[in-house]
Amino acid sequence: MKTKPQLTLLVSFLFAGLTWQANAAEEAENSISPTPFVTIERGDLPIILTAPHGGASSIPDVPRRQGEGVQKFSSLSDAGTARLGVKLADAIEQRFGKRPYLVVAHFHRRYVDANRPPDLAYEVTPAEKVYDRYHNAIANARREVTERWGHGLLLDIHGQAADPKAIFRGTQNGLTTKHLLSRFGDEALRGKTSLFGQLAQQDFRVIPAVDDTDREHDRYDGGFTVVTYGSGRGGTIDAIQLELGRSFRNADEVERTAKRIASAVFNFSNEYLPRKATNQVELPLSDSEELVRVGVYVDQGVGRSVKDLLKALAVSSDLKVDQLKAEDIREGILDRYDVLIQPGGSGSGQGKHLGAEGREEIRDYIAAGGGYIGICAGAYLASADYDWSLHVLDAKVIDRKHWARGRGDVEIGLTEAGQLAFQRSKPKLTILYSQGPLLAPADRDDIEDYEVIASYETEIAKNGAPKGVMKGTTAIARGKFGEGRVLCFSPHPEKTGGLESLVIHAIQQVRKTKNQDRQLLESAK
Ligand SMILES: [Zn+2]
Repeated sequence: MKTKPQLTLLVSFLFAGLTWQANAAEEAENSISPTPFVTIERGDLPIILTAPHGGASSIPDVPRRQGEGVQKFSSLSDAGTARLGVKLADAIEQRFGKRPYLVVAHFHRRYVDANRPPDLAYEVTPAEKVYDRYHNAIANARREVTERWGHGLLLDIHGQAADPKAIFRGTQNGLTTKHLLSRFGDEALRGKTSLFGQLAQQDFRVIPAVDDTDREHDRYDGGFTVVTYGSGRGGTIDAIQLELGRSFRNADEVERTAKRIASAVFNFSNEYLPRKATNQVELPLSDSEELVRVGVYVDQGVGRSVKDLLKALAVSSDLKVDQLKAEDIREGILDRYDVLIQPGGSGSGQGKHLGAEGREEIRDYIAAGGGYIGICAGAYLASADYDWSLHVLDAKVIDRKHWARGRGDVEIGLTEAGQLAFQRSKPKLTILYSQGPLLAPADRDDIEDYEVIASYETEIAKNGAPKGVMKGTTAIARGKFGEGRVLCFSPHPEKTGGLESLVIHAIQQVRKTKNQDRQLLESAK
């Protein structure tokens, strides 16, 4: 095995493991589970929801904050607001047909106060990563919304104890909505058509009242998040802090509260937010400032789908993508890459062209920590089932005889791990299948068992293939080989409109990482 150059990449899959989805978030509020720290979801609306104070989790190796010398120190949570953030995203999806961006903290405020600048937010180093995770996600969402729509709205959700039946507005008296005010005037902040005007029309009591020119309550007039990400310091994202009374946040009421706020946001949006994205480019929510180096095998055994793959990779400015020949691989070029992708085409064609030497190079590279993604043929190639395959995924191929079983859309069901990995709020996906492998555990002792990320729920059975065999087999598998990670798609996300970003998420899952980060990952489990 070769020695690897020292890497300085941030771990993204570490954080992906900490990401938490809607259903789990509900439980998180009542649990002290150490894992669910931050929910991060990419949206398809120019709306960002953040909730910093609703969490209940402790963080490994992070003691309670002492708050010495911190003004307005508080370690009390805003009960119910993490759940409200998730429910509001759901309600907005129902109203708009699309989801907002969502960043929800599930750690308790007594360990990290996500609505403070770093020097006041936490007191020990292990808390920094969780804090950064939360804020990088907001910064990335803000950048994306700006790029995709030109301008947008951030709502920071809090709870206040001063008035159980009111919602206080926090914009630093208009500063954090400077862009909105400059375009539409005072009405957009204080009038009937403003967000708080729309909330009032949903029968919320709002403070300050509609059309009132009173200053905002000086305890609830907008904190670090809206000041940092709002338009007061430039930019085109307007940020508003919502401080909700207790009556709106209790478990019985939270769903109704979410629906009422969603209606207000919807009406506000019709007046003030862009309807159509000006730029549909999708970017990964990456934590790293360095480029991820991706090598794509483009040589014998590769089919036309590689063009779609390269296109899917090209939209991400966080990747440096190179095309590799079998000969490059045999000469040891993989040392330079964080991820190798073997695309669709012919698994045996690729395996044979790589030759025993090339295949051994790939095995060594993964064993030493390299990431591997196989798509269709690349998944055949990863399997432990052929003399020309890599034997890096503990999988065999079911019904090998009828490999040419046809092509078409199928449904797959993501497991909970799959939803986390790909940041999807719903488990079902429709995806293009084109004679990919029907994977099942091979139960080899020398390779770690793989994890099922998605299974086939419908099937293709043409050209004499028997019915009923494909359903239930593994559609997406994630495994470990030595120090490295392997993720295989039997179907074709890169050729399925709307699912191209699954490849980007897969890169985040398997990319090579520093050893110390890996240890942190293990300890965070
Ligand atoms: Zn708060």
